[in-house]
This record gives sequence, structure tokens and C-alpha cells, in this order.
Amino acid sequence: MLYLLGIDIGTSGTKAVLVEEDGRVVASSYVEYPLSQPRQGWAEQDPEQWWQAVVAAVQAIWAKSGLDGRDVAGVGLSGQMHGAVVLDANYQVLRPAILWCDQRTGGECTWMYQEIGEEKLYQWTGNPALPGFTAPKLVWLRRHEPEIYNQIRHVLLPKDYIRFRLTGELATEVSDASGTLLLDVAARRWSGEMLAALDLPREWLPRVHESPEITGQITPEAAAATGLPAGTPVVGGGGDQAAGAVGTGIVEEGILSAALGTSGVVFAMTAKPSIQPGSTLHAFCHAVPGKWHLMGVMLAAGASLQWFRNQLGGEEIKEAAATGTDPYDLLTARAAEAGPGAEGLLFLPYLLGERTPHPDPAARGGFIGLTMRHRKGHLVRAVLEGVAFGLRDSLELLQQAGVKVEEIRVSGGGARSPLWRQILAGVFKHPVTTVNSTDGPAFGAALLAGVGAGIYPSVEAACRSTIKVTSRAEPVLSEVSAYDHLYALYKSLYPLLRDTMHDLTKLTE
Ligand code: ADP
Repeated sequence: MLYLLGIDIGTSGTKAVLVEEDGRVVASSYVEYPLSQPRQGWAEQDPEQWWQAVVAAVQAIWAKSGLDGRDVAGVGLSGQMHGAVVLDANYQVLRPAILWCDQRTGGECTWMYQEIGEEKLYQWTGNPALPGFTAPKLVWLRRHEPEIYNQIRHVLLPKDYIRFRLTGELATEVSDASGTLLLDVAARRWSGEMLAALDLPREWLPRVHESPEITGQITPEAAAATGLPAGTPVVGGGGDQAAGAVGTGIVEEGILSAALGTSGVVFAMTAKPSIQPGSTLHAFCHAVPGKWHLMGVMLAAGASLQWFRNQLGGEEIKEAAATGTDPYDLLTARAAEAGPGAEGLLFLPYLLGERTPHPDPAARGGFIGLTMRHRKGHLVRAVLEGVAFGLRDSLELLQQAGVKVEEIRVSGGGARSPLWRQILAGVFKHPVTTVNSTDGPAFGAALLAGVGAGIYPSVEAACRSTIKVTSRAEPVLSEVSAYDHLYALYKSLYPLLRDTMHDLTKLTE
């Protein structure tokens, strides 16, 4: 029997999964690490912590499975995107990595718009300049830490630093590289124009592969640390979104995904690079060779329900502790009694500001339409429906960009709720499904390793032979028309309330 190892270097921790050829997960492990916030809005991590976590997570896999690295046909990597790891001429890390969620580069993004202009940014990279992306971080280092900047000889993304430690190779792949703002996403290669405009040396960047390609082999030193035999192939892998999509089978047109974690992401594969200047959708290379993807990002999806549970679910938290149940299940049971539309109550889910379709950090949430008749179940129902409406905003943008929709696969903690899945089917007006694989990006990275190792002929074939639909919620006609009406009202609220939200945000600054 051959096995595949997927490793996902996340923001809170590193996950490793050992997968059999047929997709069965034999063992998984998770090792956490802290996030450092030296100043308000900054987010950094020490790449050495990632490496230590990778070593511990892989060793835990052998301990749990009773297997050892000799049975592993290939290793795939995935990880948090957009981070900047900077190395000197001796391949030493120069400073803590600046992460995707770090907000320090607003000024650099404004400078890039002034210097380069929106049109050229889209033409060269397919994307807008967002503070999370890698390129503005390098410009920030040049301006604020010139003594570090002058020593930089290599720039890597987080998972690619782990690749360097495992194989000694400086390499990346197209899906993660798309989030640097230095890749020509349409052409799937570094953008000479963008590098010239920012005055960044081409030699700093690693070579770019397609995601299932073999990028190197485990070195003897990495073998000693991890227990993986020297020579084991390591494939490109993918950024967490693209690898997660592979892990749920979002590799053909018509099947989209909606991830209902803390944030919400609606993701679609596209056969062509669907780049639309000014859009709030991200257009990146997919981990499927020669394919692209589009995605919309909602900031407070599961976070909205989590806020409700923490602030207003004290009763359910107590009852769940006493009965060994889950407070989320108790809350959604109340919502089920309330019925579609929550008796005319709408919830705006902008508790963390918003990204798609309103790129607005000062947006705020709220309940609209409260009456004395409303009970807690109605409030929960409105939260579930409001999050579904927020995701429909992204879905509609994708459809406007020409994406065909047949089925939407949901994943993340929110997908555990059958009620939330039924609401999503009604709001999306399409079947909502779940699949057997729940290990997300790490599982997708393992499948990519299987393609590179020759076990599956293609990424699509890997998904077909390992991923199965486990539940399906069909839209119910009466709910669809109720939600259509409510969605129109929901959509009208942000433009009406925008100035008020901004004034309220200013009051608390
Ligand atoms: P993360 O993005 O942090 O990895 P998860 O995918 O674990 O998040 O999702 C966490 C969210 O899932 C919670 O905030 C909550 O909204 C939702 N959730 C978890 N369990 C349930 C449940 N049983 N029913 C409904 N929602 C749930």
C-alpha cells in the first residue's frame, strides 16, 4: 500500500495528514504555534516555529499510525498565503515572517496605486494591491527596515520556506505565487513589468512550478529530523485556498465551494483567467494545471454565529455542558423552530468589516426589523440567513463573471449544521452538498502529491477516486421565493446605512 503525506502550514498551527491511495485518512496530527502582534495591526511568526511544528506533526503521524516514512510515495505542502519570509545570502531568516493578516502596508498600497495605477496592476498581475499581499510587504521593508532589506537575497512564501528546509530547493507553485502581486496570473509566470515597476530583483524569487509537479526530494538532514526517507519527492502543493478546493473536489466547472469557517469563502474554478479590474473577487491560478479560480471572501461568516453564542448563548452553553451536547446545535435547533425569514428580521454580518462585495473595514453589523414578538430562535435564524445572504453576494458576482453553478459544496464548522445547509440551498437556489474529506488543504496537498508521484493521472482523477458526496440539501420552492424577497431587502441595507456605520466607527476610533 502506498501513502501520501499532506502538510498544511496554517496561521494557528500545522496540520499533517497521511492518506491512502483511495483517500482514506490513516492518521492526522496538529501542532499549534502563537501569532506575534508586536504592534496594533501587525502579525508576524518565526519561520523556525513552523519548521519545529512540521517536524513534530510528521513524527506524530508515525507514532499514531504505526507506519514509517518508507511507505510514503510523495509529500505535498499547503499553507497560509501572502506571507513574506526573507533570507540573506547564506539562506538565514533575516526577521520574523510578515503574515497575510498584517495590515501595516496600507501606505505602500496607496503608493502602488499612485505609481503604477489600477489598470496596469490588473494588466500585469490580475489583482488589486491589498495590504495582505507579499509585494507591499517588501516595499515596506525597503522603507522602514533598510538594514534588513539590503541583506535580502531570497523571498519565500511560508510553505515554500518549509520546502526549502525539506529539500534545499528554492521553489514555489502558481496558486500560492498568485497572492504575491508579483505573478502574472494570466501567464502563470513572474511579472517582469511588476518587478521592474517596484524595483525588486527577479533573482530574489524562487522558480515557479505547476502545483502537482515534483519540486525536489527530502534531503538527508530533513530525513533525520522528520523520519521521511531521503529522496522522497515533494510536489509544489498549493496555497491554502487552492489546496483546500482540491481537497473538496472543486476542480471542474459547475461545482463551487462555500467554506463556512470563521470567515466565508465562495470559490469557483475557471477555465480562463477571469480578471476584472475593480472587482472585489480574487482571480488566482488554481492548483489544477492550466486552470484558474475566482473567489469572494466574507469576513464574519461562522464568526457571526460564534459572536452570538458567546454573547447571547449563555443558557445554551450551560445546558450543553450539563448534557454533553454542543451549544451551536442547541442554538440552531431554536432557529429551526423560527421558520424561514425569522418573521421579518434581517441580520447584517459585517461584524469584522467586509471584503466581498463591500471592501470596507468600517462596515458594521446589525439586526433590522426587531419587534416584541421576536425570540432568541428568530435572532439565531436571522444570523444564519444573514451569513447566507452575504455568501450569495459573492455567488452573484461569480455568476456575473460567467461562472456556471450546478452544486455548491460546503465545508468548515458551519457545514455541520443541517439547518444552515438547508438555508444555504434556499438562498443559493442550488443544491448544497457536503463531502467525505474534512481535512481541507492538507488533504488537497496529499492528493497533489499523489498526482506528482504518478498514483493518479490528474488532479481531477485524484478527486474523483477519493472524494464522495455525503449529504445533499435541495432548494425548496417556497423557501426560495421567501429568501429572494428578503435578499433584495438585505442588499438594499448596506448602501442605505453605510454613512451611519462609518460615523459609528469614527466615534470609537
Ligand atoms: P476556522 O475557520 O477558525 O478553522 P471552523 O471551520 O472550525 O473555523 O468553523 C468555526 C465556525 O463553525 C464557528 O464559528 C461556528 O460558527 C461554526 N460551527 C461550528 N460548529 C457548528 C455547529 N454544530 N452548527 C453550526 N455552526 C457550527
